Amino acid sequence: MSPEALRIKVKKAGQRACDEKDAKGKVCVGHLKRWDRPTEEVVREVGKDVQVYRCERCHTLYRPAPDDRSSAGLKYEKRKVNILGDTVVPDP
Ligand SMILES: [Zn+2]
Repeated sequence: MSPEALRIKVKKAGQRACDEKDAKGKVCVGHLKRWDRPTEEVVREVGKDVQVYRCERCHTLYRPAPDDRSSAGLKYEKRKVNILGDTVVPDP
């Protein structure tokens, strides 16, 4: 078992390239590939039957965004704003 905490990023709708930055702040842009054999630990984290993606360069894991409908072209997002004007991120 890895001593590192399991870290899974959320893949944005339509995202195909890794946006993980390295120590120098350079974006990885590795290709995100479907990861067909997630480890037990990952399955426990994201749930069964959830398609996990993995960067082929840095191996960062991604799970689909909860509202990822992959509708290319529809770029706007509705966001709720609270009293302070901060963006409220809805719970999945
Ligand atoms: Zn990467």
